[in-house]
Parts: sequence; structure tokens; C-alpha cells
Amino acid sequence: MAKGFSYRFYHSTDWEHARERALQRDAYLCQHCLAQGIATPAVMVHHIVELTPENINDPNISTDPKNLVSLCDLCHKKVHGWVRQGSTRQGLVFDEDGNLISLDSEHTD
Ligand SMILES: [Zn+2]
Ligand SMILES: [Zn+2]
Repeated sequence: MAKGFSYRFYHSTDWEHARERALQRDAYLCQHCLAQGIATPAVMVHHIVELTPENINDPNISTDPKNLVSLCDLCHKKVHGWVRQGSTRQGLVFDEDGNLISLDSEHTD
């Protein structure tokens, strides 16, 4: 599993705190929707510079508020290109917490 390196990080208190700070800063709203004048509750916090095994221990990347943005589910999928690509055959992908999520319900063009 390519995402395995981040499992421990996403279960750390450092990440919990960074995530909470980002959500509070963003008023728990999806920042991409907000830019279009739509208030959508954020369901996750995305890393603008994606985490890699090389940078995951770098606090300037992994927990810096400047690298974090609160997003709703659909905007997060879009930002990763998951909506268009479809990813796995079953329409399932792993989210950033390592959970399997379905893309079927919100497939739009
Ligand atoms: Zn959104
Ligand atoms: Zn993301």
C-alpha cells in the first residue's frame, strides 16, 4: 500500500492538533467552495504539498497551517483528480486517513 508510510502520522497527536487548528482557522468550511461563495462544511484537511516518505517528518510540510486547507469531500476528490480518473475498478479509493471511500455517489463531470 503506497499510503502506508503516512498511517502512523495520521494517527499522531501532532496531526490531530494541526488538523484541528486548520479547521478552526477555516471556520470548518470547505475553502474551495468558499472561494466560489458556497458555504460547505469541511470534512477533512488536505495537504497542499502532498506528503511523501521524504517530507512526512518535516513539520514545515506535514503540520504547517500554510500547507493545510480544509475541504469538503467532493473538492478533496477533485483536487486529487479522483473524480475524473475513477481510480480503482470498484470506484473505491483510500482517503488520507486510510479509509476506503466510494466515488460512486458524487460522480460528476
Ligand atoms: Zn468544497
Ligand atoms: Zn488530500
